[in-house]
Amino acid sequence: MRGLEEWLPFEDALATAVGRGSPDPTWLAPLLSAEGDDAQRLREAADGVRRRFVGYEVHLRALVEITSYCCRNCMYCGLRRDHTSQPRYRMSPSEVVALARQAASIGYRTVVLQGGEDPCLDRETVARILSDIKASTDLAVTLSLGERSYDTYARWREEGADRYLLRIETTDPALFASVHPDGNLRRRMQCLEDLKRLGYQLGTGVLVGLPGQTALSTADDVIWMRDLGAEMLGVGPFIPNPDTPLADTPGGALDQALNLVAVLRLVFPNAHIPATTALGALDPMGGEKGLKAGANVLMPNLTPRTQRESYALYPGKPIVDITSATCRDAIVARIEAIGRRVAADHGHVHRLTE
Ligand code: SF4
Repeated sequence: MRGLEEWLPFEDALATAVGRGSPDPTWLAPLLSAEGDDAQRLREAADGVRRRFVGYEVHLRALVEITSYCCRNCMYCGLRRDHTSQPRYRMSPSEVVALARQAASIGYRTVVLQGGEDPCLDRETVARILSDIKASTDLAVTLSLGERSYDTYARWREEGADRYLLRIETTDPALFASVHPDGNLRRRMQCLEDLKRLGYQLGTGVLVGLPGQTALSTADDVIWMRDLGAEMLGVGPFIPNPDTPLADTPGGALDQALNLVAVLRLVFPNAHIPATTALGALDPMGGEKGLKAGANVLMPNLTPRTQRESYALYPGKPIVDITSATCRDAIVARIEAIGRRVAADHGHVHRLTE
């Protein structure tokens, strides 16, 4: 058991991180636990690395939540199968393609098609959607549709899917099992390996603040993601959903999530790191704070309002109508207000290292 006495003092830990030391719990854990002035210095260091390696541009990814059906029962999620009072929807393929075209017409370069693990959204249905989007737009397409077979991932890649997001959530076997009663950590890891082998730009990430989670466990997650070769990294603070078994569990704090964003930027200087919507659910300025702690991606939600209200992963999710060009302009203005600019390109991953 690695104890507190093995942690480097904060100063040494930060110097090791900035010096691109090999990721190790002895310096990752003290950074992940930083508070007050130390936390501020960590974020400033990460912001400096962000400037140096990925610049001032912020990539906008238009998020479309295409189905709220899910066959799984994750303990923290409002879309879990046993949440039977949750209204559900599944967009038709033509609806998804129309939203993607709308995203392209108002200036987005990437569309993210996200959903629960919905067996009715099968291999060929998604393949047709991909084919139609690729034939009628110049969008990069990111998929986030959960654990699927190698053949399914291969088929979607063949139809032009560029990227895939599948969060590992935690690499701690006991913690993973406790919040994924019908999940299998090895299977999820295998899916990520399959996606990498198929040449997807690979996205994963973790939940922060799960009950029983420690800084050492999160440090292990960071090392695992590094070994995997992840290229896009999402941090989701655990926000208790009143309609789940974890309703009364204390949630993850914004500061904890921002520390992890900063640590990820230090460990993965070239990666795409979103300031996730969940940061905005904890703090109206959560997006900006994420961008100042090392993030370089925002994912505005283009799901139509009526459906978005039924896609209740966690409480407090912003339900702002941002489907129009005017609303995109408002996001651009927020980015420019912190001295950043919106990227004009597709924002594919940076595979070159310095
Ligand atoms: S986290 Fe994903 S897989 Fe788990 S219940 Fe929610 S939507 Fe389904």
